[in-house]
Amino acid sequence: MRESYTLHRTNNCVVIPIRNGSHLIYNRLLNNPIVLDSDSFAFFMSLTFITFPLTLSEDKHELVIFLIENGYFFKEETDESTILKNSHTKHLSDLSSGKTLVALDLRISEKCNFGCKHCIVGQSEKSKPLMKEQMAIDAVNAFMACSKTGGIDLHFGNAEPFLNFNVLQATYNHLNEHYPDAEKRVSVNTNLSLLNEAKAQFLTQSGITTYVSLDGEKPANDAIRIFKKGGVGTYDVVMEKMSLLEKYGHPIEGISVTATDQNYQFFGPNFIDWCHTRGYTSLGFDFDLINPLSISVDERVEILHSMWIRAEELGMEFFGTWMTPFINITSKSIMQEEYAFCKGIHGRAISIDGDGQIHICGYSDTMLGHFSKLHESIQPGGKLYALVESRLVGNVSHCHGCEIEGACAGQCYATCESSQQKASEQCIFYRKVTKKFLETYAGMEESWHYIIQKGGDNHGFPQAQSSPRCFHAVEASELLLISPWKWMGFSKF
Ligand code: SF4
Ligand code: SF4
Repeated sequence: MRESYTLHRTNNCVVIPIRNGSHLIYNRLLNNPIVLDSDSFAFFMSLTFITFPLTLSEDKHELVIFLIENGYFFKEETDESTILKNSHTKHLSDLSSGKTLVALDLRISEKCNFGCKHCIVGQSEKSKPLMKEQMAIDAVNAFMACSKTGGIDLHFGNAEPFLNFNVLQATYNHLNEHYPDAEKRVSVNTNLSLLNEAKAQFLTQSGITTYVSLDGEKPANDAIRIFKKGGVGTYDVVMEKMSLLEKYGHPIEGISVTATDQNYQFFGPNFIDWCHTRGYTSLGFDFDLINPLSISVDERVEILHSMWIRAEELGMEFFGTWMTPFINITSKSIMQEEYAFCKGIHGRAISIDGDGQIHICGYSDTMLGHFSKLHESIQPGGKLYALVESRLVGNVSHCHGCEIEGACAGQCYATCESSQQKASEQCIFYRKVTKKFLETYAGMEESWHYIIQKGGDNHGFPQAQSSPRCFHAVEASELLLISPWKWMGFSKF
């Protein structure tokens, strides 16, 4: 005789009505969204527990097994907390053995020749030294000694790295000479204003990926992105330098934009058209992640949604930090792999400042020890280890019970460092924008079968210059893979 046992429906199921009685359901800790048609949804809601062996019709049996596999029913002794605990234990073990470390950001210049009104770097740069060549090289060596991934994504930031271009070149050459077999990706975020023929030639020949910040068309950009000396707008200079890069066969494929109170009115579907006309295939766009905004959360969501619709129509990539919880819900689950809001807080990327201090990213002020002690920082009891552990899904106390806890897990750490008020406002924003995009996708019949998904192992760096927004969490290349959207309905059987 087969053993009898009972599974209970999770208390963590979030339900979003779609249309014609269809509903989107997801587990707020494990994600795994599923669209259920009206009959299957009614059946699901009628099941507060399931007793095995099952005595159900074939279609209901199949649905029940599918729901169990996706984390909607559990034995009492193995609920979500067991899954999270096991996954976290493995991830922290990987962290301490260097298996997660893939990306190194060197803040070779925390000085900038721009005086952008929204830039956090500009507010505190006076005491920051340019990184010395030896420190940059030592930091690379320390990272390579600690990382067990066999590769490195090296990024130069975090204000205007072209102010320290010699160190950029020397570090790039050192990496190639001393680690010829490592898998390497090198990128830089720049305002481009200091580009000349020699730099353009070097960037082109080295294949260093060059990210350029431009905050929209001339009126939008020049409303906030200005030269420190004289305070005039930077648009004309940046466009001229983009042409110089293009001349060397290194064209800019996309731009990254920060919307603030000063320039948000310039953005909407028309801006997508402007980007398309200029030949950009990719647009990174975020509202200021650090400074307060007077534009309402609802208005922000509407602007993003209308721009996204236009970008979809034109086949352009449109992305930003705002998309992180949506992407995590639709493509990540702790049941399959560990993840976090961003690579920094996940323990995959670190940033090193001009004093040699480790941070989780170029925007965070929290110091996690000197890079020469990186190995200690990732061990139990170390500062990086403790920070990563504190922000894993389920470990952030103020997130307990939140409807997107498993997808957001405490949001942007740099935002939380800035102010409690900003972080609370961002919570409302993330919940609303995620729901809006879930409703949109689940309501589009074609998306029941296909949805954009975060790519396999992309370890790039933010496309923003040192301004308070971040593309560390979501990048254009992460939107390229397509996988099936889970749909369940009795009519499918
Ligand atoms: S940070 Fe805010 S929105 Fe994100 S999971 Fe926590 S409570 Fe929810
Ligand atoms: S989301 Fe970006 S800015 Fe925020 S903590 Fe992560 S890497 Fe830093």
